Amino acid sequence: MTMTNSSISDQFNLLSKLMDIHQENAFKAKSYASASFAIDKLPVALSDIPKEQIAGLKGIGESSAKKIIEILETGKLAALEELISKTPPGILEMMQIKGLGPKKISTIWKEMGIESIGELLYACNENRLLLYKGFGEKTQKNVAEAIEFFMRHQGHFLYAELESYAMKMEQVITSHFPESSAIITGDFARQMPTLESLEWTTDITQDKLFTFFAKNGFQTESKEQITIATGEEQVRMIFKHCKSNELTFQSFLNNCSPAFADSWNKEYPQTREAKDENEIFSIAGISNIPPYLRDEYSIITSNLNISDIIVPGDIKGIIHSHSDWSDGTNTIEEMAKACIEKGWEYLVISDHSKSAFYANGLTEERIKAQHQYIDDLNRKYAPFRIFKSIECDILNDGALDYSDAVLSTFDLVIASVHSNLKMSEEKAMQRLITAIENPHTTILGHPTGRLLLSRKGYPIDHEKIIDACIANNVVIEINAHPRRLDLDWTWIRRAQEKGALLSINPDAHNIEGFADTRYGVLAAQKGGLLKERNLSSFGLTALETHLS
Ligand SMILES: [Zn+2]
Ligand SMILES: [Zn+2]
Repeated sequence: MTMTNSSISDQFNLLSKLMDIHQENAFKAKSYASASFAIDKLPVALSDIPKEQIAGLKGIGESSAKKIIEILETGKLAALEELISKTPPGILEMMQIKGLGPKKISTIWKEMGIESIGELLYACNENRLLLYKGFGEKTQKNVAEAIEFFMRHQGHFLYAELESYAMKMEQVITSHFPESSAIITGDFARQMPTLESLEWTTDITQDKLFTFFAKNGFQTESKEQITIATGEEQVRMIFKHCKSNELTFQSFLNNCSPAFADSWNKEYPQTREAKDENEIFSIAGISNIPPYLRDEYSIITSNLNISDIIVPGDIKGIIHSHSDWSDGTNTIEEMAKACIEKGWEYLVISDHSKSAFYANGLTEERIKAQHQYIDDLNRKYAPFRIFKSIECDILNDGALDYSDAVLSTFDLVIASVHSNLKMSEEKAMQRLITAIENPHTTILGHPTGRLLLSRKGYPIDHEKIIDACIANNVVIEINAHPRRLDLDWTWIRRAQEKGALLSINPDAHNIEGFADTRYGVLAAQKGGLLKERNLSSFGLTALETHLS
């Protein structure tokens, strides 16, 4: 295979960028960049030029010429392959984000310790970029938008990212086909934290729906009983067609996991004729199971009290939030007022601790000042209460970030891991258990550190963490940020059954962040969380009692 000039040029371009990212010889990197440019402009194919003449070409030095010959002879460039092998895949992906040059990527990787675009997006949300040279508020905003654009084109979405689009499309479809029904089913209806598509079950005919989307500029595809439409937002919408008299049962089935649907079909075939979903359950003789719980069939025989599962209105206050004292953007007073407006009874301010220097973590001096300020605000806004808290870094050995004397000045302490996230299960367990056993710890923050679609999180032994939290009276956080949702919903029922107390916390970095609580509730519902087992559903007095 002969190498084209443009593919050789691309390799030089990549080599030069990677050298900059790895902070290798800047002079050489520059010369490879100009070679890349020169190669691209050459009127003749390099493979047609005698080898000894390559070094004399305009813009191509001795070292570049050697590398061109290497590519022509072997088809590869060893120096480039070596650099690629030393670069995490997430960093290579980052090079595709508009507005991120090698210098910025180098800072992001080497100084911020971020290795994937999802982590980077999360860091933008925490305002972490602003603390580094070359990153202003505008850059941070542009980077966040470019990442969101890029991720949309990968076909993976957070639930929260598709919610308003799903609602909008539902309106568009129902207003255009008023005599038919299109019901959102599938993963969205089942409140899955991540989605690859939106699914509808509909009695609109396939022809009509196809024509409608094709005419409106959607990429449209038609299969047996299925229409797929993708608009410029790059969200794949899958429509499962059925007859009007099958709509109830088909949408019921499409709201179950495949295993659940299979078992149901075998056990309750007589429910096919039901007029609505309530009737499906009454014919079967069991109480209503909402779509979010139709994962494992065993839910039918479990003794979970479904009517007591948490709903958004059960949230009584905001636990875990950051103000402009650390990496948040609102003042504590602004956040408190917003809570009062929403009818919540309290606000737990938990700014970052001193080791989180990147987040402007609080020194002992500033803690004192913050506590005075909170005392003043509490006098002003009583009976509303602001709790003095801290999101205390769990240090590398599992110790907390302040002395016992300082820790005892907080109303409650949320202990979280933010540094050295790459660790073995053994190390993670040692750090977490040490922190859980610390008598000052009230809540274990985002237990695995995972970021959905972006970072796996460190490995933990969930059973042991749950047991340790129960034994030490530590509440397990369900971090409600739609990219975290950590503790994962699949562990919530187990934790609850064992006797753990959990807490749906928004980890808000501004007032708008309070709204994320809802995503925590949706995930908690999937986990069957009962409102009485959720700390942020405690009223003010109940919370005060719990803390004392
Ligand atoms: Zn945190
Ligand atoms: Zn936090």
